Amino acid sequence: MSGARILVIEDEPQLRFALHRYLESQGYQTREAEDGASGLASFRSFKPDVVLLDLMLPDRSGVEVCKAIRQDSATPIIVLSALGDEKTKVEALDEGADDYLTKPFGMNELIARIRVAMRHQASSASAPILAVGDLTMDLERRVVTVSGREVHLTPTEYNLLKYLATNAGKVLTHPMILRNVWGPEYVGDTAVLRTCITQLRDKLDGAGGQAYIQTEPRVGYRFRPTADESL
Ligand code: CA
Repeated sequence: MSGARILVIEDEPQLRFALHRYLESQGYQTREAEDGASGLASFRSFKPDVVLLDLMLPDRSGVEVCKAIRQDSATPIIVLSALGDEKTKVEALDEGADDYLTKPFGMNELIARIRVAMRHQASSASAPILAVGDLTMDLERRVVTVSGREVHLTPTEYNLLKYLATNAGKVLTHPMILRNVWGPEYVGDTAVLRTCITQLRDKLDGAGGQAYIQTEPRVGYRFRPTADESL
């Protein structure tokens, strides 16, 4: 989407400049900040459509910036993490970041992620019928279909699918899914989650559905909106 506003919070000057130059060449408006404090100030004045957020900033961690933004805004946040930042990355996702890219990343990949994040933002308004690719969920009648054929799910499978599909495109960590679908006392019980994901995949695949549920190794799962999504 041309003209969308991207805020880049990144302290490495070369990467910040490269992002600025590339995003502007693609028709985005950008604003750059080199630390957390100026990033949050720019967030309020610039009102971006998407935030690109480095995790290691000179004055505070990206996780704190993420938390501050999420206090009153649902603006998509894509975390830029370095190799070895695994734990911090998961913390940022738990604090509401939508997605992450591991440095070094390709600019085409970045643009694809920005598009997905913005589409998710546009479609997340509550609707009685959720349609993602071949899949539809009637949230009032609790009926799920793949290519028009009904798929019978247990209540837990249904709740898991609903949580994944209403957050399509977004990376959801194991603790987030367990807390939201099973309840806070289940956080840490990844075995129960893994079993339910397997059953859900079997039923959706058995109905001719595409591979909707993508594994994010050591992090969680992501619901892929379409089969050809370049993720
Ligand atoms: Ca940094």
